[in-house]
Amino acid sequence: MNGIFYRVHRTADGILPFSADNAYSSYIDIPRNETGTKSECQECRGNGRTWDTCLSCNNDYTYTDPCSTCDNKGGSGPCEPCNGTGWEDCLRGYSCFAHPDQLLDYFLAPSHPFIADSEPTIIFEGHEVGTGPDWEPLVIPNRVVETLNWGEFRARYDDA
Ligand SMILES: [Zn+2]
Ligand SMILES: [Zn+2]
Repeated sequence: MNGIFYRVHRTADGILPFSADNAYSSYIDIPRNETGTKSECQECRGNGRTWDTCLSCNNDYTYTDPCSTCDNKGGSGPCEPCNGTGWEDCLRGYSCFAHPDQLLDYFLAPSHPFIADSEPTIIFEGHEVGTGPDWEPLVIPNRVVETLNWGEFRARYDDA
């Protein structure tokens, strides 16, 4: 489905410039790889193993040769969700909303981390390719209509 969509495109570390090629999504505030196409596995926090501490050697490798349980890597066997890589594929498309009110509700919810007024907020035309972790549309942009910052966006659309 084509349409107009609204997104806060945050400038946090590892977030690539807004473009169709870079349009991948993951849960918020999770480290990404260099191309932005993979995010840190949250099951193992990126270390590829499900427990931090090996139950056999307690991560003390002084007397291991190497540890037959963890091979001196600590923790359990390979993490299943990420197959031991520590990374999971991001979802294709930018997480965004089809209405300004929905974007406001999402980012102004008390449970949501604070968004600075200077964060870029992009109004764009695109096509929907899926559904994100919070049931929001995932969209690949065709064209940027307007770039505001979060403060300007709120001033324009937040009439509550
Ligand atoms: Zn994992
Ligand atoms: Zn061990």
